[in-house]
Amino acid sequence: MKKLKIGLVGANGRMGQEIATVIGASNNSDVFYTIGRDKKSIDHKLAAKVDVWIDFSSPEALPEVLKIATRHKTPVVCGTTGFSKKEKSALDKASKEIPVLWASNMSMGVAVLNEALKVFNSINNFDYQIEEFHHIRKKDKPSGTAITLQENLEKAVGKKCPEPLAVRGGGIFGVHKIHAMSDEEMITFEHTALNRTVFAKGAVRAASWLASQKKPGLYQIRDVLFGK
Ligand code: NAD
Repeated sequence: MKKLKIGLVGANGRMGQEIATVIGASNNSDVFYTIGRDKKSIDHKLAAKVDVWIDFSSPEALPEVLKIATRHKTPVVCGTTGFSKKEKSALDKASKEIPVLWASNMSMGVAVLNEALKVFNSINNFDYQIEEFHHIRKKDKPSGTAITLQENLEKAVGKKCPEPLAVRGGGIFGVHKIHAMSDEEMITFEHTALNRTVFAKGAVRAASWLASQKKPGLYQIRDVLFGK
């Protein structure tokens, strides 16, 4: 079987290294090309052969990543968080030309959690609060995952909810809690990432799924599980 040629952006970072390990252990994909902060120039002959890009780097890398991907008509899976409105609209624009999947959290568990929030529609008179915990080195606050959960929560309950509470400390890979509270009861949905591999495996799964999507468009991680 022909192996999927993956282009990895942010290859030397925590997530980049984890993704390379997951790909290394797989039989159906290879890290074919890498881009790090130290890159001198892009080898477009090689970049043209990439089947799908995986980007876990920083918002500053995005314009270049999208430029290369749209030039060679290559799908992009992007897990970078902390994007501004301008960067989000750049993803949108690129998705008119190529398949783009951006997810603030690549775990299948969080994809299911986001779906599960829809049930809060039936108790939308409750008070809501999202809480998240991450390692001390995390740059963005609140996390991209918490922001996505907040958007889906507000859609489900049809009202604004207080900003997510963000805690930074130790080596926590990621804990997200959604509390729903009334005078009589309290319910909490909670997801814990037990390691960084969960995001890497999700990203690689998303990449092989996206590589088989023929149409340009902005895809979500939920589409990998539930279809577009
Ligand atoms: P990190 O700082 O360890 O790694 C980032 C890497 O990207 C570094 O090697 C850096 O040199 C490289 N980089 C930065 N700017 C670049 C540029 N302009 N061009 C090329 N390379 C560049 O960070 P990390 O913990 O690996 O996280 C990376 C991103 O992924 C963050 O935005 C983080 O929030 C996000 N993240 C997303 C998920 C998810 O599931 N979507 C999970 C974990 C982390």
